[in-house]
Amino acid sequence: MKIEDVIKLYDQYILPTYNRSPLCMVKGKGSKVWDLEGKEYLDFFPGWAVSGLGHCHPSVVSAIKNQARKLLHVSNNFYNVKQAQLAQKIVERSFPGRVFFCNSGAEAIEGAIKFVRKYGSLTGRYEIITMEGAFHGRTLAALTATGQEKYLKGFEPLPEGFRKVPFNNFEAVKKAAGPKTIAVLMELIQGEGGINVADPEFVRNVRALCDEKKMLLIVDEVQTGMGRTGNWFVYQHYGIEPDLMVLAKSLGSGVPIGALIATRNIKEEVLVPGTHASTYGGNPLVAAAALAVFKTIEKERLLQQAQQLGAYLKTKLMELKEKYSFIKEVRGIGLMMGMELDRAGADIVTRARIKGLLINCTQDRVLRIMPAMTVTKRQLDQGIAILDQVLKEALAT
Ligand SMILES: *Cc1c(COP(=O)(O)O)cnc(C)c1O
Repeated sequence: MKIEDVIKLYDQYILPTYNRSPLCMVKGKGSKVWDLEGKEYLDFFPGWAVSGLGHCHPSVVSAIKNQARKLLHVSNNFYNVKQAQLAQKIVERSFPGRVFFCNSGAEAIEGAIKFVRKYGSLTGRYEIITMEGAFHGRTLAALTATGQEKYLKGFEPLPEGFRKVPFNNFEAVKKAAGPKTIAVLMELIQGEGGINVADPEFVRNVRALCDEKKMLLIVDEVQTGMGRTGNWFVYQHYGIEPDLMVLAKSLGSGVPIGALIATRNIKEEVLVPGTHASTYGGNPLVAAAALAVFKTIEKERLLQQAQQLGAYLKTKLMELKEKYSFIKEVRGIGLMMGMELDRAGADIVTRARIKGLLINCTQDRVLRIMPAMTVTKRQLDQGIAILDQVLKEALAT
């Protein structure tokens, strides 16, 4: 099959909800992917931040193979070993809590919203404070929490009970926190929002306010979690602990899995049998894959790698900033970097792709560079060299 044939099938049979590049990927290994025509690409945005260990990491592949031979799926009316072990692993690497498994980021956010609402119903509170520039997914409630106009238009009426405030503005959070407020929901690095990093003081103040007013702090770690910032979870850079944490994307490094972790401090039994469910949630296949992700990060010391290579990447991007005046800012933590331009970045993404480098652009002007944690220094150099060329071309036109 040729790319033209694939595109024809898409045009006829797939709902057109995405902007797609005219590329059809057929194979991946680490930070490299190959398209239908056999062209090789260096992937600095693998799987939209899903493939944290790179494409087809051998440990993940063999965990999937082994589990697939034994048992793919059982319902949550039974116990399964892998789910138990994975939950234990997540809690041991984060905070004392308990886990609910589902299939995606939006679904995990939805679970968190339901959880805090149920908890709030004990005291008549339901309102959730969210941040401008956030992204929490596309289901109706997650979308409302996301609150970006371009995603909301045409989907009204939306669920009630969300209050949006400017990011990194503690006074605004304080003002919005009323007698009906039960939780604050935020990313500590807004990914889709443009790699906006939360101020440490803001985060500490919000945590203290939540304690004072007995509100729950929900941290969305769907994009930041699982090591790419150099810690397991980005909140660990801030010296705080959330009450709820939401995971997905690179948790399974390629298999669809989401998770919600809720602190044990919530004493009341909020989610009792029957109050929430997800058919596939934490089935043996995806749980085995996610367990392999944890083990690989530990065995290959990928947190240290993300710190070191992240620092290296930042230095290199800062050098580009010195060179090209249209780069306004370089920001991020570890291997989660953004480069804000004074102009649209789509053309740069396209030019980079043609030269064999895959990156992303978000919020029109922010180039998003999130290589796999298994990327090598040499690959970073290769990628930066391509980016340098492309930026030079952009300057000339
Ligand atoms: C991608 C993303 C989501 C939504 O995840 P899906 O799996 O696409 O539903 C939620 N929050 C953040 C921070 C994300 O980056």
